[in-house]
Amino acid sequence: MDDIVIVGGGIIGASAAYFLSKAGRKIKVFERDPTYKNASFPLSLGGFRRQFFQKENILLGKFAKEFIFQLPDLLETKKNGKPTVSVVPNGYLLLFDKEQADEQYEALKNHSSCDAKTKNIKAEELPKVFPWISSEGLETATYTDSKVEGWVDPHMFHAALKNKAIELGAIFEKKEIKNINEIEAETIISAAGCWTNKLLSDIPVAPQKHTVFRVKCPKHIPEMPLTGDRRQGLVLSLLLKIFFGVFPIIFQPPGLS
Ligand SMILES: Cc1cc2nc3c(=O)[nH]c(=O)nc-3n(C[C@H](O)[C@H](O)[C@H](O)COP(=O)(O)OP(=O)(O)OC[C@H]3O[C@@H](n4cnc5c(N)ncnc54)[C@H](O)[C@@H]3O)c2cc1C
Repeated sequence: MDDIVIVGGGIIGASAAYFLSKAGRKIKVFERDPTYKNASFPLSLGGFRRQFFQKENILLGKFAKEFIFQLPDLLETKKNGKPTVSVVPNGYLLLFDKEQADEQYEALKNHSSCDAKTKNIKAEELPKVFPWISSEGLETATYTDSKVEGWVDPHMFHAALKNKAIELGAIFEKKEIKNINEIEAETIISAAGCWTNKLLSDIPVAPQKHTVFRVKCPKHIPEMPLTGDRRQGLVLSLLLKIFFGVFPIIFQPPGLS
């Protein structure tokens, strides 16, 4: 019987494999598609933030930042050396209208008690700090400017976690688990992402469509934070200069338009 089996080798599976291997557990990860062509993590913006409402999420966001900044040392392997994940610590800027403002003022109390270093600004003051923004229709905004939020390359992040987990003894095997009863292990962890419900019908995880569009930006704003217009559910961000120069991304979660 195995010690711990993880179903799904995406970012959550690889992360669980790393932390549990580091804690001395024997880990086996089953991943049906090691090219990850349909997994969520390679599609993500790789944003890490602490601007959430609940304290648990704020503290997780703080942990993520600390982890990401120490990542080259924490995830160094004999085979691959010190990994990098292309950290861009430009912060997050979230924009709110009048209806959303009170909730954000409540959230800011939690930010303050967690020492999240989130700043708050009235909409009319916004262009003084971010001259490229129109404050029309906005009431307030929250942002960080102390390199505590930003984004990483999710592919590189995943590879770094997986490589380190393997060095620590985790085994990644290509296999689709059709039924949880196939697995004999002390502990089974589902990291099957939006497919969890197919494996465990009593877990209420439902897939949700998120879309990233690439559009050409007429002006490069290198210091631009990952900007979320919470009225629209739009998130604007810069992409790294990969193939085509710098492009912003427009990202629209469903149900928020
Ligand atoms: C467009 C977009 C933008 C996003 N932006 C951000 C962002 O900026 N910041 C952020 O934190 N999050 C972001 N997210 C969310 C983030 O990508 C997901 O929360 C995260 O990737 C989920 O990781 P996961 O490991 O649970 O799932 P996945 O990455 O989908 O991995 C699940 C894996 O399980 C495997 N699997 C499933 N079922 C089985 C089975 N039965 N047997 C074997 N293997 C199986 C799959 O093949 C897959 O590889 C974004 C998502 C999208 C789509």
